[in-house]
Amino acid sequence: MIRLTNLPIRWRLTLLYGGMLFLILVVFSSGVYIYFRNSLQKSIDTKIKSIGEVLSSSMSDKNDPSLFGNFERYLENVLGRKPKGKFIQIIDSSGRIGAKTSDIEAQTLPTSFETLERALSGEVVYETIETKPRHRLVTIPILDNKRVTSIVQVGTSLEDFDETMKRLLIIMVIGVPFSLGVILWIGYFMAKKSLRPVDQIRRAAVKISVSNLDERIDIGPRKDELGKLAQTFNEMIGGLKGAFQRINQFSVDVSHELKTPLTILKGETEVALRKERGAEEYRRILHSHLEEIDWMTRIIDDLLLLSKADAGEVVLNLDEIDLRDLIVDVYMNTRLLAEQKQIDFSLGDVSDTKLRGDELKLRRMLLNVVENGIKYTQQGGSVEISSAVDDGYVRVRVKDTGIGIAEEDIKYIFDRFYRADRSRKRESGSGLGLSISKWIAEAHKGGIEVTSNTPSGSLFSIKLPLSGGAA
Ligand code: ADP
Repeated sequence: MIRLTNLPIRWRLTLLYGGMLFLILVVFSSGVYIYFRNSLQKSIDTKIKSIGEVLSSSMSDKNDPSLFGNFERYLENVLGRKPKGKFIQIIDSSGRIGAKTSDIEAQTLPTSFETLERALSGEVVYETIETKPRHRLVTIPILDNKRVTSIVQVGTSLEDFDETMKRLLIIMVIGVPFSLGVILWIGYFMAKKSLRPVDQIRRAAVKISVSNLDERIDIGPRKDELGKLAQTFNEMIGGLKGAFQRINQFSVDVSHELKTPLTILKGETEVALRKERGAEEYRRILHSHLEEIDWMTRIIDDLLLLSKADAGEVVLNLDEIDLRDLIVDVYMNTRLLAEQKQIDFSLGDVSDTKLRGDELKLRRMLLNVVENGIKYTQQGGSVEISSAVDDGYVRVRVKDTGIGIAEEDIKYIFDRFYRADRSRKRESGSGLGLSISKWIAEAHKGGIEVTSNTPSGSLFSIKLPLSGGAA
């Protein structure tokens, strides 16, 4: 079975349009046909009735139709002319034909007993007689002192009427399918023409692939729906190109990041194997290897977490947590680091805040931002952590007087593997910490922002909803 949805749109449009048009044409033509037939019939009825009424009123004072003598002349006298194409006959109350026009000399207008009965009771009766050709007949009673004395019948052939109606029907039967055909034909080509850009879009889409994301759809300067579709499609390809470039860059960064420790491992191993060494020397080399392995494990763990986060696979273990305790804990854990660098690390005003969140992840985020503060602040500088409640949110601020972040770097520092210091020095970290921190803040329906002035330091502000907005 052919399903409508399997048909091409141009066919569907044409069929739908054609179906509706066919219905309209059929209803309209039937209306015209019926209206035309009724008005023609009415005018025929009016004509024969008016003749009948003139005769009926002229005869009501003469009881005996035989008095008319020459009936044809009588009719001419009464009607003013000889009624052309009309058959007239007078029947008396006993049903005997008193007079009739010469046209029907040889025959009699067929009158049913029922018609006569009704006319005798004073009714005007119209009827169509199925002779060949058909006839229309009116039967009018002639009254004398409110008593039916006789009946006048006026008839006319329906030959012309039937012929006219037949022609009209033929015109309609031929005209409706013909005009429908013409309109459908034009409609099909119009639909085909207006849908041509869709095919262009489809062909362009087939050509576009990962290696060919510079391809664009060109359907000219159209402002209609198809123009907008092509524009949206082009924008989508542009977006895809950007995404693919980022993925490529990401793969390059990952390889680069893992290549350095592997090169170190390989180099150290090769050197160690060149000659026999003492147990102490081997221990030192293994220690160094362990450091590299730890470094790679950390990067791989971080990447795994980020890709799981992208796929929405990381579940937060939500709990009621005391943020103040958490901040104090992070402060205590990192104080030693700051002391070693001779940085003045202080705990500012910390609000007493409780919220729902994943404690481990929030700790990781805070540790990362605080450690960055210490890492990027020179000896003698200061770092301060504080928090305050503001408009349904708690803001944790980590302020340092370190090297700051250059204007051009600020918008990238939350990107994966981005490091303002491009030398990729090990001390500056892997460049994944802030991406993870940003994801953690956002997973808690919050956010993280940074303002910075080189070289006067940076301020990281973490915003978390108090209402337990975590997903
Ligand atoms: P990293 O492990 O390199 O610190 P992050 O993602 O934590 O990676 O930070 C990304 C980059 O942002 C850092 O390499 C550094 O250039 C810059 N950055 C982060 N925090 C600070 C800060 N407090 N002061 C100056 N620069 C910072």
